[in-house]
Amino acid sequence: MAQITFYSATTQDEEHFRQLLGASGHELTFIHEPLSHQNLTPNSEGIATFVTDKVTAEVIAKMPNLRFIACRATGYDNIDMSAARERGIVVLTVPTYGEHTVAEFTFALLLTLSRKIPASHHAALTGDIHEQTISGHDLAGKTIGIIGTGKIGRNVARIAKGFAMDVLAYDPYPNEVEAARIGFTYTSLSALAAQSDVISLHAPATKQNYHLVDDQFLSHVRPTAILLNTARGSLVDSASLLHALQENRLGGAGLDVLEHEELLHASNEAVDFIGGTLGEDQTAKQTINTLKGLPNVLLTPHNAYNTQEALDRIRQTTAQNITDFYEGRTPNQVKETMQNNGQLLITRHCESEWNALGKWTGSTDVHLSENGFKQAATIGEAVKEIHIDYAFASQQIRTLETLESILDASGQVSVPYQRSESLNERDYGDYTGMNKWEVRDKVGEEEWNKIRRDWDHAVPNGETLKMVYERAVPFYQQVILPMLREGKTVLVVAHGNSIRSLIKYLENISDEDIAHVEMPFGSILDYKVADDGRMEAKSVMKIDLVAPPA
Ligand code: NAD
Repeated sequence: MAQITFYSATTQDEEHFRQLLGASGHELTFIHEPLSHQNLTPNSEGIATFVTDKVTAEVIAKMPNLRFIACRATGYDNIDMSAARERGIVVLTVPTYGEHTVAEFTFALLLTLSRKIPASHHAALTGDIHEQTISGHDLAGKTIGIIGTGKIGRNVARIAKGFAMDVLAYDPYPNEVEAARIGFTYTSLSALAAQSDVISLHAPATKQNYHLVDDQFLSHVRPTAILLNTARGSLVDSASLLHALQENRLGGAGLDVLEHEELLHASNEAVDFIGGTLGEDQTAKQTINTLKGLPNVLLTPHNAYNTQEALDRIRQTTAQNITDFYEGRTPNQVKETMQNNGQLLITRHCESEWNALGKWTGSTDVHLSENGFKQAATIGEAVKEIHIDYAFASQQIRTLETLESILDASGQVSVPYQRSESLNERDYGDYTGMNKWEVRDKVGEEEWNKIRRDWDHAVPNGETLKMVYERAVPFYQQVILPMLREGKTVLVVAHGNSIRSLIKYLENISDEDIAHVEMPFGSILDYKVADDGRMEAKSVMKIDLVAPPA
């Protein structure tokens, strides 16, 4: 029987978790205050923490039996991940529970500010009503800039569209498919800052994102703009924000999260000057106190997640995470690497002379057509902004010609690359050189589709997709993945089937389902992968290629 301790647990939490995990046989301990050195339970095998619980290296060192930390939240920036990693402690999280909850709250903040609800309420209560002082601004026709288009950011975009706003977005991993579906446009961070009436933050707290909103960012924003932060306090340099507000370089701010938000409990207290200087905490306390006094600032105490429905989802997933842990499964284990691992770009070679004729090329060496060279140059133009560290092609000349044309057109001719037969196209055996449509007429549609798509369908004297997978995936794991783990951006130019093999592995697609996956010409797949080499995030860049001659 293991001891599992829940910190920052409300009485409602305790009631629910006892119900959800009562039958597990574990000793469940509930501590209502945030985790501290005074109340930590050294014998715990697992702890379930909230965002207010700081699991530092010292805390971890004092818990020698600790095997897992179940975060009752999506973010895990309150955990010292390297200390956890060193001890092999599994960190579990609740990946989705509040994508609507937090997006709705973001608009609650926005409308409260834009329509001056607190002042209007005060006017109604006191009868001291002056139209001018409680006059607000429309949202319709205004531009909102969303920083981070993950689950929450995209819902904010959807809501904004409902308010007839124009939506701009910035994300280092843009999702063009969702952008087209929802109707927003990606732009650079500085253009977003300059063009938005409302700026809303929905990116995670990482080292790279520390003080994303700083003096420089704020130097671009409109003096009437409203900044919303429902993501994490560390994204905004509070001192820079305060100066921008005080100097009327920013119109207002709605902040559910703040640097040192834990000090909100004590921030009304007087600031202690020790020897005439302020310590970090005292400076933060002073900043928070000053922000509290500004009429165009709305503060909430990290409350965007807090609805009954969201709390239920957090508890259900946390209980499931703990059950799963003891059953040897950890689907919601934090894979820390998404922020640090490099970018994997995969594209198919451009049109070859045989593609133009509709012939099965397989492993035969056929050059790009004239149109194929033009297509590759277009792809090169499209990736100009991406700094490529290393590239791979197959042994077939058409991938090499595609790769070299891409690098040339993107101004990156000196990018090192290697060619590997592991990435070669599937050998189409006896069908090689035959016209695809003639084969279809000969063998019938069903067999033809099996030949082209199925996982393990034999081609006379040729390879199956499975055989391609068995050479392409080990190459990915042994050669490409280590580069991604070093943070490199890697471009792979390969073929329909070697790419489908990589997609199958990266996206964990079943043998049956891979039959439905196509790798079209003129797209670049952009993956972020976890340390185990599987996909963490994907976006697809579609490139408008020069059409083949009629
Ligand atoms: P998500 O992982 O689905 O999406 C995050 C997105 O941010 C990703 O698309 C990522 O590529 C992008 N991103 C990373 N760095 C970026 C940068 N520098 N600029 C722009 N985009 C960047 O996460 P989510 O579930 O949408 O959560 C978003 C944020 O909301 C997180 O910070 C999370 O901790 C926070 N959150 C807050 C509350 C609350 O109560 N206030 C509740 C839940 C989540």
